[in-house]
Amino acid sequence: MIPIAKPYLDMAEADAAREVVLSGWLSQGAQVAAFEREFASLTGAAQACAVSNCTTALHLALLAAGVGAGDEVIAPSHSFIATANSIRYCGATPIFADIEPATYNLDPECVAEAITERTRAILTVHQMGMPCNLGALLAVANRHGIPLIEDAACATGSQINMDGAWECVGRPRGLVSCFSFHPRKVITTGEGGMLTTSDPGIDRKLRLWRQHGMNVPDTVRHSSAQVIFESYDVVGFNCRMTDIQAAIGRTQLLRLPEIVARRRAIASRYAELLGDIDELGLPFEPEWARSNWQSYCVRLSERVDQKTVMQNMLNQGIATRRGIMCSHREASYAHAERRHSLRQSELAQDHAILLPIYVQMTEEDQARVADALRAELRASGSA
Ligand SMILES: *Cc1c(COP(=O)(O)O)cnc(C)c1O
Repeated sequence: MIPIAKPYLDMAEADAAREVVLSGWLSQGAQVAAFEREFASLTGAAQACAVSNCTTALHLALLAAGVGAGDEVIAPSHSFIATANSIRYCGATPIFADIEPATYNLDPECVAEAITERTRAILTVHQMGMPCNLGALLAVANRHGIPLIEDAACATGSQINMDGAWECVGRPRGLVSCFSFHPRKVITTGEGGMLTTSDPGIDRKLRLWRQHGMNVPDTVRHSSAQVIFESYDVVGFNCRMTDIQAAIGRTQLLRLPEIVARRRAIASRYAELLGDIDELGLPFEPEWARSNWQSYCVRLSERVDQKTVMQNMLNQGIATRRGIMCSHREASYAHAERRHSLRQSELAQDHAILLPIYVQMTEEDQARVADALRAELRASGSA
């Protein structure tokens, strides 16, 4: 069986977790602080704040941008549903804008059209690890004085060329970037998230909100020779990451260069193996983007039935996934306001499929995937 994805872990992560368990300090502590410093250094961000997952990161990022009841936030529908849900958590309304078909990321022109006097933030996604057109989106956001938040859930280790120099996604260029360490992403802590920002005031708020609004954290009180009484001046949440997760994350971060290099090699081999199939659309990497290839997404001809191809490949022991979901097509968003065409989003969901990609994948596995896909497309008259 060739799975769609597989986390890349071994005894090093198990040992890191074991040490924390035996240390007696299990929740947010020294390991979380170290993971934050290392993540900030990787992304070039001034501040990084660890949280329980990327969904809570998005929620806190929107709150930090001042999003509240009655506000509108422009976001892609074509994303995992957490993107849209985080807007609803703030009592705000998601206004869905369409994507560019080649990159599956927000189309800056569609975003510009969606702006109204109620727009409080733009929530862009680096979908499947492919950097979005940050330069153009920032220009739109800045022209209107609207904060931009980056949903970089899939984009740990992706790079973007800004003003002629390469930098990691999450430096960040917008107000805040949000990352996920779910096992389906390129590095994992089981569950986990991170926020990066260059604004110390926002970082301070995030740290208060993630821990019940507590003004003096337990780590400080624990190591103090003085008795300290903490206070709670704002209503916070519990979004803490554990030290067990952070220790695993620190070990995963050490592997990130190897993981990204391997995924990039697999992606370029897919391009070689599949490049001659006329009716198959290969993923497009703009010259200013270096994807971490969290997913490898190909586009089928509209004449081919997506589900049949996927089922026949599954029958041969090869897992695939359909294109990224569209939130506006789910029952939970059926009554959401719909102002703009989402045609490219729908086409991408209906005609794209994701192929297996993971570090441990062998050349033989990859050839099997490519051969099976080619045979399927031939059988359906599209290769
Ligand atoms: C996975 C994902 C999320 C949610 O991340 P969690 O850590 O599972 O909460 C949000 N947005 C996008 C684009 C994702 O792919």
